[in-house]
Amino acid sequence: MDVLRVDDRLTGEERMIRDTVRAFVAERIAPRIAGWFEEGVFPARELAPELGKLGLLGMHLDGYGCAGTSAVAYGVACRELEAADSGLRSFVSVQGSLAMAAIRKYGSEEQKRQWLPRLASGEAIGCFGLTEPDRGSDPGDMLTRARRDGSDWVLNGAKMWITNGSVADVAVVWARTDEGIRGFVVPAGTPGFTARDIHRKMSLRASVTSELSLDDVRLPADAVLPDATGLKGPLGCLSEARYGILWGAVGAGRACYEAAVEYATTREQFGKPIGAFQLTQEKLAWMEVALGQAGLTALHVGRLKDEGTVTPQQVSFGKLANVRAALDVARQARTILGANGITLEYPVIRHMNNLESVLTYEGTQEVHLLTLGKAITGLDAFR
Ligand SMILES: Cc1cc2nc3c(=O)[nH]c(=O)nc-3n(C[C@H](O)[C@H](O)[C@H](O)COP(=O)(O)OP(=O)(O)OC[C@H]3O[C@@H](n4cnc5c(N)ncnc54)[C@H](O)[C@@H]3O)c2cc1C
Repeated sequence: MDVLRVDDRLTGEERMIRDTVRAFVAERIAPRIAGWFEEGVFPARELAPELGKLGLLGMHLDGYGCAGTSAVAYGVACRELEAADSGLRSFVSVQGSLAMAAIRKYGSEEQKRQWLPRLASGEAIGCFGLTEPDRGSDPGDMLTRARRDGSDWVLNGAKMWITNGSVADVAVVWARTDEGIRGFVVPAGTPGFTARDIHRKMSLRASVTSELSLDDVRLPADAVLPDATGLKGPLGCLSEARYGILWGAVGAGRACYEAAVEYATTREQFGKPIGAFQLTQEKLAWMEVALGQAGLTALHVGRLKDEGTVTPQQVSFGKLANVRAALDVARQARTILGANGITLEYPVIRHMNNLESVLTYEGTQEVHLLTLGKAITGLDAFR
């Protein structure tokens, strides 16, 4: 499998990181993930220090205890994590590409020193609050407000669908101010700040998803991220996280594909393996093509990112194309597994359900289509 041998283009260091993450996932995650998904739990406190020890938290960031790897190495790690479960990759993405990246890019020296080493080691957990109950795809119109009171800031509002929310030691919260949208570093335990988990999810069940309430949350003047004003602040972080997703999706798709190949070559009907039927082979061949193309896209965008030339449109292209490809692969794999395809004995339905969230978060499919549509035509169809 892997006809194109995309990984042959990885450097020795990138392959070493791939193999390290693969081994971690095989030993620590694979035996337990179906149970976590079924129970709707993610042992964040237990796993964070292990992920930190491997250098996976904020791994593409420089300094302050971060590993400072290439973008491609980070992408490969995301791919291997998401081959286990999108919830695991989401944890790492939110910690590294959203919470830590926001502080690294826009934070004061003091904020960086206070939070980044602890977040990189997994001693502390971070979350990123942008989406609101009534503002999802249009965060520029957010309702959460921060007003000055003397030298303090006072925040009021609500954030919704926040990964790691209730387990976080620190939240990066975006709010509207008189100067435009600003980011705030909010330590958990600040009076007026509460997090409540969202239950009854049928997707990303092995991931903590929470609602944040901000009720007269009083913060000192130095809680604001000094170097971000306006929507480009949070959007700069989202571009980082989307980059991880375009690799991660390849991992989720690959896991489904591998399960389908294994099943197709061992399950017999009408006196032969179902993989011997042309209809099954057609499905498998299209999966191979889809994943090969997605892998090439991820590597290309990654190399552009390492060169420092990647554009948000290229990241949108990759997120849109690769998540769509992975979801198509998962759905086809599900059909090959027949009735077994709907159980947690196999990874396929878990990945398939997870990918529905991945399709929606970090910009829905429609948002990325509109981004590309605007780049192609020069015409803005967002509103
Ligand atoms: C499991 C999970 C974890 C998440 N984690 C986080 C997190 O950590 N932090 C965070 O801030 N957010 C998080 N999110 C929120 C996520 O980013 C939002 O769900 C996403 O931005 C979409 O917002 P919405 O769900 O409110 O949908 P809406 O914006 O209400 O959209 C509903 C539908 O309308 C479509 N639509 C909207 N505008 C247009 C338009 N102009 N043209 C055409 N179609 C349009 C959308 O594409 C979508 O199909 C998470 C979501 C999930 C499911």
